[in-house]
Amino acid sequence: MRLPVALGLAGAMMLGSRERGAVPSDAGRSIESHRPVPLPAPRSPLFNVVILSAQTRGLMSALWVENNRHWDELADQNTLTQLLGTGKPTQREYLGCLVGDVAGDTLFVRRLVHAKHLKQLQFAVAGDCEGIERLVGSFHTHPYRADSAGHALKERGLSPMDLKTFAAAPDLVTMVMWDLDSLDAATKAVDGSVRHPAAVQIR
Ligand SMILES: [Zn+2]
Repeated sequence: MRLPVALGLAGAMMLGSRERGAVPSDAGRSIESHRPVPLPAPRSPLFNVVILSAQTRGLMSALWVENNRHWDELADQNTLTQLLGTGKPTQREYLGCLVGDVAGDTLFVRRLVHAKHLKQLQFAVAGDCEGIERLVGSFHTHPYRADSAGHALKERGLSPMDLKTFAAAPDLVTMVMWDLDSLDAATKAVDGSVRHPAAVQIR
């Protein structure tokens, strides 16, 4: 008698897991939220300071602007027309790979390169940074969404899903831009634990 109840619960949990920010199961950075994900070996070098090059910071702003376009033009659109690809162009999330190095107690984020196999959806993004030399982490954007009155809804900072994905990856740093000139970052401690929010210096 208990089996149908258990199935019902599992079904509800699966439905509940399809939250905003989840990536498609066929994506390179897929998230398997129901299996224990082994954490990477604690091999993160110790650093206390994150320095982002001013040039890369400028590129991040430009990418945010580019990918946030059209967010306020969708009042008459619905999800179906968007899924069918027949709707107007929409805002999209963007994913990039961060390249840099650790020197002393400092992580230098020097460059941003486009992720491979990039799949940009309205409120999710997938891609991979495999094979990129001196990869230190990833960068993505949170575009505005419009509420029913057409006002901008902003997802301020890294989401719980973003932090979970970061915790399971070998990356040292992850950054999200959620508004023009608003950046949120998380880093890994030497034991692999996530530090969030992490301060970032622009230089
Ligand atoms: Zn995110």
